[in-house]
Amino acid sequence: MDSPETDCMNDIRGLLIDLDGVLYVGNRVVDGASEAVGFLIDHGFPFRCVSNTTRKSRHTIAGHLSSLGFRIPENHIFTPPLAAVAHMKKTGRIHYYLLSTGDVNRDFAETDPTDPDARPDWVIIGDAGNEVTYDTMNTAFRHLMDGAELIALENDRYWMAADGLSLSAGPIVKALEYATGKTAIVMGKPSPAFFCLALQDMHLRPEQAAMIGDDIITDIGGAHRAGMKGILVRTGKFRQDSLDTSAIKPACIIDSVSRIKDILENRR
Ligand SMILES: [Mg+2]
Repeated sequence: MDSPETDCMNDIRGLLIDLDGVLYVGNRVVDGASEAVGFLIDHGFPFRCVSNTTRKSRHTIAGHLSSLGFRIPENHIFTPPLAAVAHMKKTGRIHYYLLSTGDVNRDFAETDPTDPDARPDWVIIGDAGNEVTYDTMNTAFRHLMDGAELIALENDRYWMAADGLSLSAGPIVKALEYATGKTAIVMGKPSPAFFCLALQDMHLRPEQAAMIGDDIITDIGGAHRAGMKGILVRTGKFRQDSLDTSAIKPACIIDSVSRIKDILENRR
């Protein structure tokens, strides 16, 4: 069977899959999503999950996915904190000041600085919620003025919390950039380095992989910049008018991630 859907997967040997909006929306699992992931695992088809979540550690995300019925190994999950840790290790500078909330600090534990009082090489800003105070902001500011570099785990302006729109990390990052004149290195999607980190874990080159996501800019546009194909799903934050007005054109558009099973079974 030949269709644009199967054609767009012909040369694909691995997948990157977004979480929120693709596998689940809030606490509701997308119909057929856990079966699709199960199909990939049962057939040994390589995949990694890439999420911009910065409020939960990899371990906590894995537990959440498991509670929703997904069989996804913890080491298949890639988030901006893990990208930040990889970046710090690569540079050999591992001392940091982290402003975040939840249990994200757990992902940084493995950097294990020998001297916890050492001057930070990095100021790392995540979605920090109520941890943002004058004191924590001023501490971050002073470290930056003393030579630390600024890392933004994400750079969103706001997000929809249960009780309404809420400030994300972006405005906090902007405040520190404004005060110090420094520019943050942004981890997470749509940074090509983030996609490449997950690809390297599968030993695949960008042209051998496709990204499945619900965000035309961060998922599909980001995948294109990294040299991958982008597959847009019509679940989560998908809106037809965002697609119609965007210069970014996905390799294909599928109703949901549940289509992956049929596509992989029917491709040439
Ligand atoms: Mg999404």
